[in-house]
Parts: sequence; structure tokens; C-alpha cells
Amino acid sequence: MLPDGDLSASDPDVQAAIRGEKRRQEENLEMIASENHVSKAVLETQGSVLTNKYAEGYPGSRYYGGCEHVDTVEQLAIDRAKELFGAEHANVQPHSGTQANMGVYFAMLEPGDRILSLDLTHGGHLSHGHHVNFSGQYYEVEQYGVDPETGYIDYDELANHAEQFDPGLIVSGSSAYPREFDYERIGEIAAAVDAYHMADIAHITGLIAGGVHSNPVGDADFVTASTHKTIRAGRGGIILTTEEHAEEIDKAIFPGAQGGPLMHNVAGKAVGFGEALTDEFREYSEQVVANAKALADVFTDRGMSLVSGGTDKHLLLVDLRESHPSITGKDAEERLESVGITVNKNTVPGESRSPFVTSGIRVGTPALTTRGFSESEMETIGNYIVDLLDNPDDDDLAEEISMEVEQLCSEYPIYD
Ligand SMILES: *Cc1c(COP(=O)(O)O)cnc(C)c1O
Repeated sequence: MLPDGDLSASDPDVQAAIRGEKRRQEENLEMIASENHVSKAVLETQGSVLTNKYAEGYPGSRYYGGCEHVDTVEQLAIDRAKELFGAEHANVQPHSGTQANMGVYFAMLEPGDRILSLDLTHGGHLSHGHHVNFSGQYYEVEQYGVDPETGYIDYDELANHAEQFDPGLIVSGSSAYPREFDYERIGEIAAAVDAYHMADIAHITGLIAGGVHSNPVGDADFVTASTHKTIRAGRGGIILTTEEHAEEIDKAIFPGAQGGPLMHNVAGKAVGFGEALTDEFREYSEQVVANAKALADVFTDRGMSLVSGGTDKHLLLVDLRESHPSITGKDAEERLESVGITVNKNTVPGESRSPFVTSGIRVGTPALTTRGFSESEMETIGNYIVDLLDNPDDDDLAEEISMEVEQLCSEYPIYD
């Protein structure tokens, strides 16, 4: 027998927390570059009865009966992913971006094999070989970085490094690098040392789907992505590859790394990918980048230093060391949070502070663009941010900005 009644009756504590979180999202300016707001349709899909269904295997070839409907949604997710990115094969089952990377490593490498990836403090990701992550524990990892002068990846250095290190796999992709990767060049560097090239597009999945960022499919043997950052398909991951590697990848995910797929999330991916195939989504993606550039202009006009001097995409990495030497990334994050602006502290190239303190903040536009903000709101918000950092002890100013933020949020509701 199922407990009767909806959440308010059966579990008011959890319901109150969900309501609190909804209110937090509505009443704050979400500028964490990896976050976004999914549509009501995606929310509805993820909260559906698909969560009840076991579907180990792949469409048309399952270990359980009763899979006709989940086969339909998974096939839709696969077909739409292939269409969005022009890929020969898509696996839509990884539970997250990290598990997508795990799938590729498990499929193509043996423990102890070598991976060459971008340094975490230069924008890389834990799952690219950090020692606290399985990827750093199972594989021998070396990292490449950005040129300290320009903030851009130094491809000549990368080529030399690849030649010396002789990796089995080179990772392109990052969490905080504000520029486009030259996927073609990295593909050539990988080919020259007989390594695979894995492009991890977790942050820019939506920008590529929307056609505003170059697509690594064709230049990378494997493309891994998360589905909840610039694309609004709910939490999860995917792997794109060629026919040649399709079977190895599918086996590495199931049964290699996972059991039953989260069919409610696979269905969320289908719905979110369907939305991403529309002209509206293309316009959204263009606006995400236009908004980031508008924000970059405000910051640089007002004397702040941006890693690489600006951005090609949805995020900026602000290096506070020159403009605000006494303010750490942690201070800035807390100060902005107190007025309802959510960003995250972030290490910067050449970082000397700990990752819990840092000297930078990462600022992103995907969620605010989903809310309907454009360049003029970005200017307003960018100025609030600099005003606060310039006057960290001015409580009257903070109070004033906090009220302006509240007003702005109420003018742009997300779900109501
Ligand atoms: C966010 C991210 C991932 C995946 O993150 P999950 O939280 O596991 O979905 C992978 N790689 C990069 C570069 C990322 O930024």
C-alpha cells in the first residue's frame, strides 16, 4: 500500500525545504556558471513514474520486460542528441558528466595509462585526473596550462608536452576557461602521439547545441557532456562518439560503470534536447554569450582584470589580485551572496591561495538569460558587483543593492 496524500501531507519537512529552495532561486540572481533553470516540462518529466522502471540494457535490447515506453523516450533522447551535435552515436545513460568521463576512460584505457588534461587551477575539472578523484588515482596524469601572460592555452607547449609524456588520451574542455578550445589543433596533437582525444563540453553543451560555439564532434574521438548547465535538459551526462567506438562506450557505461539507467532523467534529456532543437534555443544561446560579453565590458571598463581579457562564452573568470588585492574569492562570494547575487569563488592561473579561499570569482550568464535578462540588466548587475567590491565595508550600499536585486528578481519570475 502506498502512503496516501501529496508531499505536504506525507512529508512537510522535505516540502518546506523544496519550497525554500524554489524561493531562493526566484529571489536571487543565479550567476554560478554551471547552473540553470529547466522548463516546467523537464521538471514534470523528471518527477514522473519513469523513476519506477528498471531498464538495464539499451532500447530494443533490455534485461527487463515492460520496456516499450522507456525504449521510446531513450530512443528520442538518442536521436535528438545525434541531431543536435551531428554525432554518429550517442549514449544518453551516464548519470552525470563525471560518469560520462568515467565511461570513456574505462572503455579506452587501462589502469596506469596516461592522461594529459588541463590543470584544475587553469580551468580543468576534478574528473580530468585530480588526485582526489578516481581519475587521478587510476591513471597517470600530467596537465597542461594556459600562457600566464595571455590566459590562452599554449598549444605549442601542449604539443611538446604530449610528445614527451606520450599519453593514451588527451582531454580538451574545462569548467572555467573563458575561451573556445581549438579542437582541431588538439585533435592533431593527439593524433601525432597516437592518443585519443576526448572533448569534455560539460559547460558549453548548450552553446554548441545552439550553434554559438565550435563543435568538437569530428575533431574528438569522444565528446562527453553534462545536460544541466548551458543546456536545460535536467541533471545527467551523455557521451557522443563514432560508430567505430559505439559498442565499447555502451559496454563501459552499462554494465561497466552503472546499473539501471535513471529513466526519468533520460526522459528529461529527451525533452530538453527537443527544446534545444528549436530556434528559440538558438536565440537563447546567442543571448547567453552576448550577456557575458556585456558583463565583461562593465568589469573591464571599471578596472577589473579578467583571465584572458574577456570571454567567448557564458562565463568570466575575474582575477581579483590586481584590482582588489585584499579581497579573496571567498570574501567576494560571501559579500555578493549577502545581497542576493550568487557566484562562486574560483582559482585563477598562477593561484597562490587555497581552493577554499582563492583569488578569483567565476561569473556566468546561463541562468539569468533563462530568466529573460539581456545586456541592459547585465550592465546594471555588473555595476552592482563592482560597487560592492570597491566598497566592501559600506553596509548602506549593500542594503540598497540588496533591495534593487529583490526588485529585479520580482520583475523576472522563473516559474510563476
Ligand atoms: C560540470 C563538469 C563535469 C561534470 O560534472 P557532473 O557534476 O559530474 O555532472 C565534467 N567536466 C567538466 C569540465 C565540468 O565542468
